[in-house]
Amino acid sequence: MEDQLTAGTGVRTRHAVVVGGSVAGLLVARVLADHAEQVTVVERDRFPDGAEPRPGVPQGRHIHVLLEGGQRALEELLPGLVGELGEQGAPRVGMPEDLVQWQNGRWFRRLPATSHLFTGSRPQLEALVRRRVLADPRIRTVEGTEVVGLLGDSRRVRGVLVRERGAGAAKEARRLEADLVVDASGRGTRAADWLAAVGAEAPHEETLDTGLAYATRVYKDTGGRIGRDHLGYYIMPNPRQVYGGVALPVEDGRVLVTLSGLRGSEPPTDEAGFEEFAGRLPHPVLRDWIAGAEPDSPVHGFRQTANIRRRYDRPGRRPAGFLAAGDALCSFNPVYGQGMAVAAIGAVALRRALSDPRRTPTTFRVQRALFDASRQAWDISSGSDKKMPGARGDGLRSKPGDKVAGWYLERALARYTGDPVVGAALRSVLTLSAPLGVLFAPKVVRAVLFTPQAATPLEPPLLREGG
Ligand SMILES: Cc1cc2nc3c(=O)[nH]c(=O)nc-3n(C[C@H](O)[C@H](O)[C@H](O)COP(=O)(O)OP(=O)(O)OC[C@H]3O[C@@H](n4cnc5c(N)ncnc54)[C@H](O)[C@@H]3O)c2cc1C
Repeated sequence: MEDQLTAGTGVRTRHAVVVGGSVAGLLVARVLADHAEQVTVVERDRFPDGAEPRPGVPQGRHIHVLLEGGQRALEELLPGLVGELGEQGAPRVGMPEDLVQWQNGRWFRRLPATSHLFTGSRPQLEALVRRRVLADPRIRTVEGTEVVGLLGDSRRVRGVLVRERGAGAAKEARRLEADLVVDASGRGTRAADWLAAVGAEAPHEETLDTGLAYATRVYKDTGGRIGRDHLGYYIMPNPRQVYGGVALPVEDGRVLVTLSGLRGSEPPTDEAGFEEFAGRLPHPVLRDWIAGAEPDSPVHGFRQTANIRRRYDRPGRRPAGFLAAGDALCSFNPVYGQGMAVAAIGAVALRRALSDPRRTPTTFRVQRALFDASRQAWDISSGSDKKMPGARGDGLRSKPGDKVAGWYLERALARYTGDPVVGAALRSVLTLSAPLGVLFAPKVVRAVLFTPQAATPLEPPLLREGG
């Protein structure tokens, strides 16, 4: 069959290549190792020994929360990892209990937690995943090496062209043959060019861009204000309030502060400007915390935050044996904290698609499974971003039913901060640990449609409810 995932009927993949050795690439390699004789991860960086930031993952300096849906998927792929995160000091933060959190003009009640985030640094999580995945002798890495193209033609991929990083275009690219290639090279993937160069069609890129920019700085909590009665601050932007601010602890006791602003209201990356920007948040609580804390890094900015999904799920002249995963398939506005979770959920979907005894794993079918795994996160981030002022892109188009769903969701969001039933249901959906359907369970529908909005704190609730 032409679309068969790997060449050669009925045999295991002999050699699979994964492009990119970050969270998505490593987890894909973990899954493929059970279905291939050898997996090679090609990574343009050299991996650091431990939990260090690296140039290929510039977003790694910014806050990275691990949502509950991602924790479950990671645990399924790498049993014991979540426990290890805790043992290595990654803070576990209960929502809404542990956070001073503001959304849509209201402070959340500090009700008992129904969901937990891990807030350790991105380099720490990646290092723990890397150590476990690369311990598998079936997986090898080629580091300091960039994939620059595909081998094969528009019908079947036969490997990749690689070049040592920094070798320059003059040095001829090397061939690395494989019967399966997975692109996990992140949101900046060049796969569209690689596909065009072998005569295949690039997928349509659906985009929705609010122009949100991040600026992040590390602080020492010299006053010890985070960690006793609350573990962080979380202020989300909304269509009427374009600024965001989050402060969360990482594994070494320091605190990352990320400020954000939509297009035209981007946070500056100079030190004085950063502090001044914190004063634009709807309440001074985070600005005041910053004023009493000790800066421990420069300010780092980041601006590529568009939601982009590459529609490999739509038919097109594309080669068998080529898949896209992680951010290279679907990347999100990071303010919703979803990308790593979706990378893990996608890897679980890949495992299921490859192991399904009832269906031949064709390229299209497996790609579709990966795509479907990102659908809920896309609906959440694009659904919210559509309403933001200045949002651009073809993801803005509305679908039939959007109006009714939007009306219901508005009512649910109005109750999110104060109603325990609606709060638990929405939180489980937004943390990707339950499907959207839980919002339509009878008790949730009753609370959304018939219960008046509960009172919420008028000032930032620095203590737990009843505390
Ligand atoms: C500012 C910001 C904040 C974020 N916050 C969160 C958060 O709170 N929670 C969350 O879950 N997610 C968050 N994300 C998303 C998260 O960073 C990604 O979804 C996650 O890293 C998975 O990405 P990936 O592995 O697909 O790609 P990446 O992590 O971007 O990695 C791509 C890898 O491919 C390598 N590479 C690229 N091109 C080539 C090539 N040609 N050849 C070889 N190697 C190549 C790169 O060096 C890199 O190692 C955030 C993203 C941003 C931008």
